Amino acid sequence: MIKRDGKNTSLWQDLEDLEGYHQVPPSDHVDVIIVGAGITGITTALMLQAQGKKCLILEAHTVGFGTTAGTSAHLNTVLDTPYQTIISNFGKLQAILAAEAAQQALEQIAGFIEKFQISCDFSRCDGYMYATQQDEEKELVETLEAINEVGIQAEFVDNIPGPMDFTRAIKFGGQGRFHPLKYLKALYAEFLKLGGHILENTKVVKIIDQEGFQRVETAGDKSYYADHVVYATHTPPGVHLLTFKLAPYRSYVMGIELADNQSYPEDLIYDMQDPFHYFRKADYQDRQLLLVGGQDHKTGQHNNTDFNFTELESFVRNTYKVKEVVYKWSSQYYESTDGLPYIGYFPGKKNKRIFVATGYSGNGMIFGTLSAQIISNLIVHGKSTYEALFSPSRCKPIAGFSNFMTENIDVAKHLITDKLSVSKIHSYSEIAKGEGRIINFENRDIGLFKDDTGQLFAVDPVCKHAGCVVQWNSTERSWDCPCHGARYDPSGNLLTGPSTAGLPVYEIEEDD
Ligand SMILES: Cc1cc2nc3c(=O)[nH]c(=O)nc-3n(C[C@H](O)[C@H](O)[C@H](O)COP(=O)(O)OP(=O)(O)OC[C@H]3O[C@@H](n4cnc5c(N)ncnc54)[C@H](O)[C@@H]3O)c2cc1C
Repeated sequence: MIKRDGKNTSLWQDLEDLEGYHQVPPSDHVDVIIVGAGITGITTALMLQAQGKKCLILEAHTVGFGTTAGTSAHLNTVLDTPYQTIISNFGKLQAILAAEAAQQALEQIAGFIEKFQISCDFSRCDGYMYATQQDEEKELVETLEAINEVGIQAEFVDNIPGPMDFTRAIKFGGQGRFHPLKYLKALYAEFLKLGGHILENTKVVKIIDQEGFQRVETAGDKSYYADHVVYATHTPPGVHLLTFKLAPYRSYVMGIELADNQSYPEDLIYDMQDPFHYFRKADYQDRQLLLVGGQDHKTGQHNNTDFNFTELESFVRNTYKVKEVVYKWSSQYYESTDGLPYIGYFPGKKNKRIFVATGYSGNGMIFGTLSAQIISNLIVHGKSTYEALFSPSRCKPIAGFSNFMTENIDVAKHLITDKLSVSKIHSYSEIAKGEGRIINFENRDIGLFKDDTGQLFAVDPVCKHAGCVVQWNSTERSWDCPCHGARYDPSGNLLTGPSTAGLPVYEIEEDD
């Protein structure tokens, strides 16, 4: 079973473990160190290694541990950020370039699948988007126009491949779906075949520019050296310019077996609610499942995350006859302020030797692959067609500014007010098994969690990244920071996000 950063198991994890490949590199100095082994890190490492660069991947946990194991694995060229927004923020020519980049990334994935004969349930398919009321119809018309403007074929249709009621719908071509971890595992195997190296359970805490090369410090006090370093960590560690240009979101997925021989959609289907829901088919053992997702919200800003599964299930039951909910899980993604990811040279660094790829929204299969193309081109050839469009240093645009402000005002609010929103308890019995809560004890805030056996875990709830107060995520049993998305397990160990340290732990004695 492949591990991931949450308590729930996703549909994809049920594969033979990838562990055991931990390989000590022959030398501490390589050409490129790639930090993180999700789709971004593994694809980047493979592309660079294939072009003759000696690569070392440093992964804090194990391969696939991050959002790549918690994704829903649509391969979209019609992105989460509507093309009308991209046109408005970047202009029509740049929006066409963004669509072309997404298309190229999809073809790169298809190319790898063909070249390495990867069996990963890959299928090319169409996408459908449907409106159920007037204001959605208006937006659907704008969406259709914008999709066509950037060169993707789209049209109004009378039917969609599902039983949902709708007033208007569009169809667009050239989309896809696959099994993300079967794909990742195969790319990883190819990387190792080419002589690439990886160290799992190796967390990078700092990168220091040292006389023309980069010293990469790990939590184990061991350093490695490289000419170039790529942060493929989904969000880069530390506090820097990008910290304030990214907002973390939690999103929910269910894998459902349908009753009464209902058919599973071959294509990708989206509604237009805010936040939207989606449907796709996935192969599961010798059966099929309907994947349904949505209910997205800002990380750490929902009091009862379990409630989102209830809502999602009732949404599905209004559309399909459900036989069994086989899987349910949630995971985290990051939005940029202007709707496109940040891929390229790390902003604010004197040298051009550190790279970053982040802010993918829900399109990281495509953007993770695109990042690998862009960054490997920048390292090997010093240029990429998409360098300027996705540059992490871009100063964009007035239209994105209000989002930027809202997100950072939210952050500031959490820094200040969350410290006041703690509860008082008189006995540990007030905390139920499986419950986590922030309590105040002798003027000290404590994040308290009681597991299913009744064992208590107590942590200091102040995030080690930027000092916000973490919130309990009951769905995945983690402490999640609402500001920048750092996540910790009940024992305070860092799971994911921009922090590099865990939460301090309080010892609990029987009489406390
Ligand atoms: C519910 C959900 C559904 C989604 N659905 C889709 C979809 O249908 N299609 C799509 O294209 N995208 C989708 N996405 C987005 C996509 O899954 C992600 O953008 C993508 O998986 C990110 O991949 P990554 O490799 O960049 O990051 P990750 O997979 O998160 O990998 C980052 C790795 O870096 C490691 N790491 C972090 N910090 C350090 C450190 N300091 N030192 C060493 N290692 C470190 C982590 O342990 C992790 O293994 C979805 C996201 C969510 C949450």
